[in-house]
Amino acid sequence: MKELYHWIDGKEAKGTSDRFADVYNPATGEVQAKVPLASTEEMDAAIASAAEAQKAWGATNPQKRARVMMKFVTLLNRDMDKLAEALSAEHGKTFPDAKGDVQRGLEVIEFCIGAPHLLKGDFTDSAGTGIDMYSMRQPLGVVAGITPFNFPAMIPLWKMGPALASGNAMILKPSERDPSVPLMLGKLLQEAGLPDGVLQVVNGDKGAVDAILQSEVIQAVGFVGSTPIAQYIYEEAAKTGKRAQCFGGAKNHMIIMPDADLDQAADALIGAGFGAAGERCMAISVAVPVGEETADALIEKLVPRIEKLKVGPWTAGDDVDYGPVVTKAAKENVLRLVQTGIDQGAELVVDGRDFNLQGYEDGFFVGPHLFDRVTPEMDIYKTEIFGPVLSTVRAKTYEEAINLAIDHEYGNGTAIFTRDGDTARDFANRINIGMVGVNVPIPVPLAYHTFGGWKKSGFGDLNQHGPDAFRFYTRTKTVTARWPSGIKEGGEFNFKAMD
Ligand code: NAD
Repeated sequence: MKELYHWIDGKEAKGTSDRFADVYNPATGEVQAKVPLASTEEMDAAIASAAEAQKAWGATNPQKRARVMMKFVTLLNRDMDKLAEALSAEHGKTFPDAKGDVQRGLEVIEFCIGAPHLLKGDFTDSAGTGIDMYSMRQPLGVVAGITPFNFPAMIPLWKMGPALASGNAMILKPSERDPSVPLMLGKLLQEAGLPDGVLQVVNGDKGAVDAILQSEVIQAVGFVGSTPIAQYIYEEAAKTGKRAQCFGGAKNHMIIMPDADLDQAADALIGAGFGAAGERCMAISVAVPVGEETADALIEKLVPRIEKLKVGPWTAGDDVDYGPVVTKAAKENVLRLVQTGIDQGAELVVDGRDFNLQGYEDGFFVGPHLFDRVTPEMDIYKTEIFGPVLSTVRAKTYEEAINLAIDHEYGNGTAIFTRDGDTARDFANRINIGMVGVNVPIPVPLAYHTFGGWKKSGFGDLNQHGPDAFRFYTRTKTVTARWPSGIKEGGEFNFKAMD
């Protein structure tokens, strides 16, 4: 059995806690590796060592740090296939999807090459007589990133890039379900020139997270995961005065207006609802057609498309639409919620419960499901299912549709499909959700914009990547300086005046 490790001080470190988590091959259901779960003592030692390494890294000029990012981009491109293979093997997503996971992270590292520009301060000449005022952005020190299983390359890269380029050291605590890619990223950063100890990849579960939260050394925590844990981390981080940005779960609505191009909308729903087995925080899990005619026509277009979806292991080729969910528990949770939907009166139009893949009977595959006539009181509407299950809520009017999204507790992403600019504009202005698509189902902002949800999808006041990330990982110091002038009228220098 393969035994994974921590990446500490630029070396593979065996765990000493004697606690391990199983890492599965989700396609076969077999345990393929064991990952050590760090004890508080191991975490504290990694933090102390990161603090030591940060001193020189923080004092390194920003352009030299940016060059490490530049080399890192080259290495990520060089190893793209290797990273994507390791990612698919532990997460289960298709190979093209895994490459996309690495690519979207890599784009943030590309953005971080511009860190010197983003770290520049402001300067006011002669703010008063003989007084200049300037501000500078300084690193926080040691910061932490705690990341989820569903984007094991992208989200660690979103955390590392801005934190390290800003001069911080980082403790990355990746998901214990698919830890290999974050460990590979640690090695690649060393090859790119990052000094040892500046990035520590420490594996673990709640114990490791709590050691981060209780540490007086760690200055900031960037978290991505489910909402209850996001809220827990946000609250606990505050107790030791840490900065925290904690991104949580989602229930993303897509509104389909009667004037929408329904083929385009149906295609969009297939990709956004079932891609990556629905295990995306930006997945569309609720379709809201406006008007009975729109709803009937949409369902008619969706059913054959869903029935054609090819579900399989990532090794079966690039035409596989989606792979297994991440664990047996995740599969059981999805199927339990599907049963709840049926019990509470939703109409199961496409039933994937009996899905079985020959040769992969023990894999965590879930067939696609489509529900119609879901209502806001049902559990499948309120809960994030995080599986290949699309719910349809029929709305009579645009007002009813927008209010569904407004009233939902989550606020990560949403989309509207329409040909009417006025409706789209009204939707974008009024909706209380962080990321909005107009005829775009998964509106993930590019690296130089920022990514973040509202309501229960995001705690904290700055977003991930883009300029916000540099604000999050630095603090501003403002200096007011006055130098007595020794220059007399006529330009002669009077040294006495300087005494
Ligand atoms: P999760 O909350 O189970 O785990 C996230 C991280 O928290 C992991 O590193 C895990 O080890 C740690 N953790 C788990 N339980 C903990 C506990 N009790 N105390 C302290 N730490 C704990 O999330 P997941 O299942 O890995 O990821 C899926 C979730 O992440 C979904 O809800 C999804 O919507 C969300 N997500 C959100 C975004 C976003 O940007 N909003 C992006 C991706 C995923």
